[in-house]
Amino acid sequence: MTPEEFRRCGRLAVDWIADYWERLDQLPVAPAVAPGEVRALLPSRPPEQGESFDAFLHDLDRVVVPRLLHWQHPRFFGYFPANASGPAVLADLLSAGLGVQGMSWITGPACTEVEQHVLDWTAELLGLPDRFRSDGPGGGVIQDTASSALLVSLVAALHRAGGGRVRSEGVGAGRYAVYATREAHSAAVKAAVITGLGERSIRYVRTDPATSAMEHGHLRALVARDAGAGVTPLMAVATVGTTSTAAVDPVAAAGRTCREYGVWLHVDAAYAGVAAVCPELRWLNDGVAEYADSYCTNPHKWLLTNFDCDAFWIGDRTLLTGALAVLPEYLRNAPTESGRVTDYRDWQIPLGRRFRALKLLAVLRWYGAEGLRDHIRRGIRHAEWFAERVRGDERFELTAPPALSLVCFRLRPRRGVDADRLNRRLLDEVNATGRTFLTHSRVQGGMTLRLAAGGTFTELHHVEEAWGCVSTAAAVLLEAAPA
Ligand SMILES: *Cc1c(COP(=O)(O)O)cnc(C)c1O
Repeated sequence: MTPEEFRRCGRLAVDWIADYWERLDQLPVAPAVAPGEVRALLPSRPPEQGESFDAFLHDLDRVVVPRLLHWQHPRFFGYFPANASGPAVLADLLSAGLGVQGMSWITGPACTEVEQHVLDWTAELLGLPDRFRSDGPGGGVIQDTASSALLVSLVAALHRAGGGRVRSEGVGAGRYAVYATREAHSAAVKAAVITGLGERSIRYVRTDPATSAMEHGHLRALVARDAGAGVTPLMAVATVGTTSTAAVDPVAAAGRTCREYGVWLHVDAAYAGVAAVCPELRWLNDGVAEYADSYCTNPHKWLLTNFDCDAFWIGDRTLLTGALAVLPEYLRNAPTESGRVTDYRDWQIPLGRRFRALKLLAVLRWYGAEGLRDHIRRGIRHAEWFAERVRGDERFELTAPPALSLVCFRLRPRRGVDADRLNRRLLDEVNATGRTFLTHSRVQGGMTLRLAAGGTFTELHHVEEAWGCVSTAAAVLLEAAPA
């Protein structure tokens, strides 16, 4: 493709995206599609001769769009949002055009320094402590995901606890313990498995039945028990905004225990952390400045930056680089030897890395802090509106305190009716309409529906439609299964 052809096709692609965003509202949010259906529409063999870009775009319309769950749909309320936005998508395109590998400072000096700068900005916007800034002992880096952030934190924690021995000999069964609640993200278990600590290293800290937040007294008891038994209490994962219900663990109280016993405290604020861009939500960071060894939040969820972009900070970067730096001959260079530059390859699992800071920079510049705050506040207003409808309708109940842009709710249990089955059917009926899309979780053992607001293109009338959809589906179901 020549630059001239690229110009023509590129305009088609950008127009295609703009058209897609404009017509999303007319599409069903979730497709009715059977497994294998997509592959059946694609040729069984790869093309021998090249084809036009127009043919490629045509297949996007013919094959892909009708068989996708549309995450950018204004009536998508499932999981958590995965915000795309114009400036982020365009900057991602520019990043692809630059095609830089930012593994070492020398392989893309601006790639590294823009990233450092943008993460310092973001730390300031979110009210995170100065020791996370790149001009102190710590620093920020963009990881692909919160799962990777958790994994590298665990590796750094191991390095702090076991130093050179862990690096050379590995972890050894039963020597270390990791603490998290069952509401913590599954990434904690995954990280324990990947590091070789194993699932049995995880200690589940009890949660408060009313709030689903960590009971810090139980954390303390578990840590003390392990310490007394000769097991090293290694790391605690405190979640700010759990995936099921957006519960917030008591970071400061957990942090005091961690400090006393030398336990690494990782704060996983993947979904909720970005909300601290609003001064009235700074309390989400309570305890982070004093106690967190590492912290992450995902602009790729609720801060208008398309996947993937996890902002990760660590208080002492030498623990990360000490654990992960491996310098083969072919990567040696004078700036690295000088010690005056940051080589982000030592802060992450892969070697290669994209210029992801560009999309975060574009988002910060396009929206400004005020625009980002408006976006967060809009998602919260939408959730509050929906929670009010649930509260005002005696058929329904809230299953968790509404938090930020998330509402957990269900049809109230009725005598002689299996509440889980009823709510499962409600969810299926609602999603089958294609007019809105919700997901579910379990809260205190019971099936619950979740409405996660905060989509880039979502307006209040879309939330009103979602409520209409839920309410109508409930009426039909309850008529068929009266109390
Ligand atoms: C979504 C989420 C994750 C996982 O996010 P990835 O970036 O996809 O790994 C981790 N923790 C919490 C609390 C989450 O909400």
